[in-house]
Amino acid sequence: RALGAAPRFEQHSMGLVDRNTRCFYGQYLLNAWVSLFLDGMSAIVVFLSALFPVLSLTVDRASGGADASATLSIPLAGIAISYALELALFLKACTRSTLELQKGMAAVERIVDYSENTPTERRGGASPPGHWPTAGAITITKLSVRYRPELPLALRAVSCVIPPAAKVGIVGRTGSGKSTFLAVLWRLIEAEGGVDGRGAGAVCIDGVDVQTLKLAELRARLAIIPQDPVMFNDTLRYNLDPFGERSDDELRQVLELVQMKGVVGTLADGLGHRISEGGANFSVGQRQLVCLARAALRKAPILALDEATASIDNETDAVLQAAIRKQFAQCTVLTIAHRLHTIMDSTSVMVFESGALAEHDAPAALLDDPASLFSQLVAKTGSAAPHLRAMANAAVAVSRMQRGASDNRAADK
Ligand code: ATP
Ligand code: MG
Repeated sequence: RALGAAPRFEQHSMGLVDRNTRCFYGQYLLNAWVSLFLDGMSAIVVFLSALFPVLSLTVDRASGGADASATLSIPLAGIAISYALELALFLKACTRSTLELQKGMAAVERIVDYSENTPTERRGGASPPGHWPTAGAITITKLSVRYRPELPLALRAVSCVIPPAAKVGIVGRTGSGKSTFLAVLWRLIEAEGGVDGRGAGAVCIDGVDVQTLKLAELRARLAIIPQDPVMFNDTLRYNLDPFGERSDDELRQVLELVQMKGVVGTLADGLGHRISEGGANFSVGQRQLVCLARAALRKAPILALDEATASIDNETDAVLQAAIRKQFAQCTVLTIAHRLHTIMDSTSVMVFESGALAEHDAPAALLDDPASLFSQLVAKTGSAAPHLRAMANAAVAVSRMQRGASDNRAADK
């Protein structure tokens, strides 16, 4: 009413009522036609069954009653006519039941069609070796992906090598393919091309092509925190550890790691606290923290964070990033980040640009080239740019010191 749209809605509603009426009108007409047609058919049958005895009697009289076996007895003719009269009812009932059956079976047909012809993920494959992945090295060769055959490529010939225990930051504009890149590691969408671990489209983790593995086992071995945090309608304990494999102590430790210990402490039921549909009784940031805790519990050598800390305040984010660095020091961590400072101390940064991997190098190296996309991204942050650059340089210095220390240790040995 406020926008004066009432007449438009009225018109739309009338149009819909008209369409509905048109369908019903057609149905009524067809019903009437079918009944008329069936009545006509049965009238013809009755007519014929009355006509033939009369004809046979006439023929019989004309021949002088010579052939007694050809004569139709009058009671039989009576029975034939009374059955023919019943046929009218019977025909209608039969036709209607057949149509009802056909209508009902359409639902069954649809279910069979959905269960047999719906495209599903590729099943089957080998089980990964015992503790795979152990190191967390990822090698990707000319990876191209599209969401559906008729859509354009979402990733175009992405090749990269990520060494074990690397901390990789993934940046790029919205829709550039960052989430897609992570989804391919889990085979949420299948890569186009090679399945032999070498050709185009191969994604190898610790030397095993993920396309050759059983889907459920592949996904169980990696840990991901998706862009929208998933919560189950169950207790907090179930949400952290759905398979009931960890002790309460471990759960508490991990909650402390993600800065959720205080929040859980205030809950009356603690770990038994019920989480409502979609995690509605937690804030988005808290949901992200629970997902992070869930991933941390998996202790997988590869952890992927898809803007996992986007809804968390800066201070908690900083503590969390530090905790992740410490807790996952031995793991390969792939981080998609819009806040650049979370990835400034990464081993390397991948910059995506409309589905292609435009740059992949250490942050300091990319910042050295003022023309690089990463430099431009940093420059766009304005006043934060010098701070970001300083963070990248500090990270270089720290890694040099660490390398020096380990070299010295090796020399001492
Ligand atoms: P953001 O920073 O907003 O999360 P992103 O870099 O993660 O963006 P992607 O989600 O990887 O972007 O999307 C890459 C491209 O794939 C986009 O052009 C998008 O239109 C397309 N795309 C993403 N998801 C689907 C989908 N489910 N079906 C079809 N196309 C999709
Ligand atoms: Mg995304």
